[in-house]
Amino acid sequence: MDIIERLRAITGPANIATGDDCAPWASDWTGNYKGQPLAVARPGSTAEVAAIMALAHETGTPVVPVSGNTGLAGGAHAPGQLMISLDRMRAVREIRPAARTAIVEAGVILSHVHDAVAAHDLVFPVTLGARGSALVGGILSTNAGGSNVVRFGNTREQVLGIEVVLPTGEILDLMSELRKDNSGFDLRDLFIGAEGTLGIITAAVLKLQPMPAAYATAMVALPSLGDALTLLNRLQAATGGAVEAFEYMPAAYIERHLRLRPKARAPFDQRHAVNIMVEIGATAPRDATLNEDGSLPIVDLLEQTLGEMTEEGGVLDAVVARNEAQRAEMWARREDAGEMSVMQQPVLLMDVALPLDGVEHFLRQAETAFHAIDPEGQSMVVAHLGDGNVHLSMWPSKAGIPQSDAIVARIEDVVADLGGSFSAEHGIGKAKRATMARRKNPVALDVMRRIKDALDPGGIMNPGKVIP
Ligand SMILES: Cc1cc2nc3c(=O)[nH]c(=O)nc-3n(C[C@H](O)[C@H](O)[C@H](O)COP(=O)(O)OP(=O)(O)OC[C@H]3O[C@@H](n4cnc5c(N)ncnc54)[C@H](O)[C@@H]3O)c2cc1C
Repeated sequence: MDIIERLRAITGPANIATGDDCAPWASDWTGNYKGQPLAVARPGSTAEVAAIMALAHETGTPVVPVSGNTGLAGGAHAPGQLMISLDRMRAVREIRPAARTAIVEAGVILSHVHDAVAAHDLVFPVTLGARGSALVGGILSTNAGGSNVVRFGNTREQVLGIEVVLPTGEILDLMSELRKDNSGFDLRDLFIGAEGTLGIITAAVLKLQPMPAAYATAMVALPSLGDALTLLNRLQAATGGAVEAFEYMPAAYIERHLRLRPKARAPFDQRHAVNIMVEIGATAPRDATLNEDGSLPIVDLLEQTLGEMTEEGGVLDAVVARNEAQRAEMWARREDAGEMSVMQQPVLLMDVALPLDGVEHFLRQAETAFHAIDPEGQSMVVAHLGDGNVHLSMWPSKAGIPQSDAIVARIEDVVADLGGSFSAEHGIGKAKRATMARRKNPVALDVMRRIKDALDPGGIMNPGKVIP
């Protein structure tokens, strides 16, 4: 039997796509990574995933796990390779409100996790613009960030346990619900963020948080990013660390957004260089219960801080959302960032992490570095400022590989000089392998290679990704 017949025998023929039926998986969200896979297998259980991996191991067939295909680094690109999609494994197995955990299969769509736990007044606090398409397996495998990292940390911090199928087909059961477990190496965190190069995540135990009973959300214009950090730190002190999003959108971003959505409104009548969208989530009844005059204490607190900073000259203007529609409008402006980045091609996408007080220097130096090489080039910045994560999109005036490489390498220099990281939340995939080779500590790279060789001696698990 050839491999396709053997795959059909494992999953049932309806769950092996070949030829044109692979079209839904043959291109990623950006459209930059296209390619006809050998086939797409859609197993319905961990046992089927294990049987497929054992077959791939035996036949030396390269395997690429795919979830929502919204990754921005080409991690699920699979021309001529066998893709494994877990989209049929979409059970929310159990929600345990008292333990604050949810046990889910890896094929559950992120927004479905949100909906399922909301019924218990709980949140899984990983959220991003692609939440309607990205799956739990993809979120874990990229250690996704998103807009709540300022309060809750990355995906890694929201996971208690995982189940993984290894490249040999063995099942590694790490489905712990424990918050403390010092029993040897932390294998869970090896697979989270590995972008499918070490195994296939099939299930997870997720950590849940209480759902805020009220939000205070605002757009704020400030004189500088230094003032923005003052605002962040004051709000964190006043609310006990309840700032859930702190998103930076400079004037050029707002202008591009209005070009993408001509019917959208500008946040302010005047153009401001520094615009922040801030959101605070209140869980305590004292912050979230309406006052007699109909105001909300958490909103009052935000307005009070903004008022004080306005008097000091640290805030130039502010609009506080008065209802859910206004809040949604603020979020929509921020969540259009992905589309704004890829609507003009070719684009150089940089996703970098910096110390919070290094972001302002970075932006100045990066712009100088870019325009020194390409004076006519255009760029756009948007940042999860609360966790120091800058997304820099650059559109060179003349598309050409040597010029693009020079621009990227020069910006990497700026990041390194400021003690930053060349990869904050989107991962390495194919897009940043050259950067890994240039920038990653060589000893760390060597350790990664040794781990990869030990777990995947045949090199069949997502080959050509992450490790240069
Ligand atoms: C509009 C938009 C907004 C975004 N915003 C953010 C953001 O704010 N923060 C952020 O971090 N990212 C963001 N992203 C990037 C992307 O959504 C995330 O990287 C997401 O985690 C990818 O999930 P996915 O299900 O689409 O995974 P995929 O793209 O399918 O896969 C991503 C990687 O994980 C591997 N993989 C997939 N499933 C498994 C599995 N079960 N086991 C092992 N490996 C697996 C793949 O091989 C690939 O290497 C955004 C993307 C878009 C399009």
